[in-house]
Amino acid sequence: MKAPSFRYVRARSLQHAYQVLQHHNGDAVAIAGGQSLMAGLNLRLSGPKVLVDIGGLPELSGMDCGGKEVRIGALTRHVEVLRSKALQERIPLLPQAVSHVAHAAIRNRGTLGGSLAYADPAAELPACAVALDATIVVGGLEGEREVKATDFFTGLMDTNLKPGELILAVRFPVPPPHTRFAFDEFTRRQGDFAVVGLAVTALVGGDQIETARAVYFGCVDRAKLAEQVSSALCGLKLPVADRGAIRNAVTKDLEPDDTPGWRAETKLRLAQVLTQRIVSRLAESGTQ
Ligand SMILES: Cc1cc2nc3c(=O)[nH]c(=O)nc-3n(C[C@H](O)[C@H](O)[C@H](O)COP(=O)(O)OP(=O)(O)OC[C@H]3O[C@@H](n4cnc5c(N)ncnc54)[C@H](O)[C@@H]3O)c2cc1C
Repeated sequence: MKAPSFRYVRARSLQHAYQVLQHHNGDAVAIAGGQSLMAGLNLRLSGPKVLVDIGGLPELSGMDCGGKEVRIGALTRHVEVLRSKALQERIPLLPQAVSHVAHAAIRNRGTLGGSLAYADPAAELPACAVALDATIVVGGLEGEREVKATDFFTGLMDTNLKPGELILAVRFPVPPPHTRFAFDEFTRRQGDFAVVGLAVTALVGGDQIETARAVYFGCVDRAKLAEQVSSALCGLKLPVADRGAIRNAVTKDLEPDDTPGWRAETKLRLAQVLTQRIVSRLAESGTQ
């Protein structure tokens, strides 16, 4: 299928992008890497009258990995996250997660801002943003504001962004030493969106988990903290001998729906298996 016809505007500046988006009042959308938007247009899932190309705006580019936090511009492509030596050292969860995003061609064009704004519940990066307690920097004609990732994803493919606003950057606090990360997902084929996925950060003192943030994707309506699983992990000694409490916590956090090809109870079972694997990885990552 072909996309419905639209007007293309290449934003000359951030202000210009805001003005065009505002002027068309919901009939204009930003395009960054185009990897979700163009697929949706070609399938006629949406039909904006104007596409505002923000791909050339320097304000949305670049990565600053120097301080206590890492600031990643919205236009940073998945491949840049994947290859960043600084991220591999400071926040390895991000490159680890991106290695599961689609295929090389899509990772070469798709952007961090686009992934968070699109807010697909099966996407890896929204889950990581919540697990890492990131802050999303948003801008519009009325100025800039910051939203915690935990408040940003408000429903199925819905976010806290107001009409005419753009994601400018994402701030990730650099996790303290002794933080362990674990990430995995079940997909039908390599590169597909996850049926069930899980991203975990855990602060481990000695052999005990002190705090943990667990976020599922694929089997939820949006990226949000899995509170029961996160608190069930806290206080556990690694390696974990009795995993009954964690299995129960999964059933309290998740209420997956039946979807074509996947029954809800299969997803729940997969989530339990994945959680067990992730808990084993947390123990193993301390022995390397
Ligand atoms: C075959 C295929 C497989 C894929 N598999 C996966 C996968 O396994 N995991 C995964 O996470 N993703 C997957 N994707 C999606 C891909 O990662 C996209 O790149 C990403 O979701 C969107 O980034 P983008 O820059 O291409 O955004 P675009 O397609 O340009 O835009 C997506 C949406 O975000 C909005 N937007 C973009 N940038 C901003 C901004 N800075 N501020 C506000 N709004 C903005 C746009 O208006 C649009 O509504 C897949 C895509 C395809 C085509």
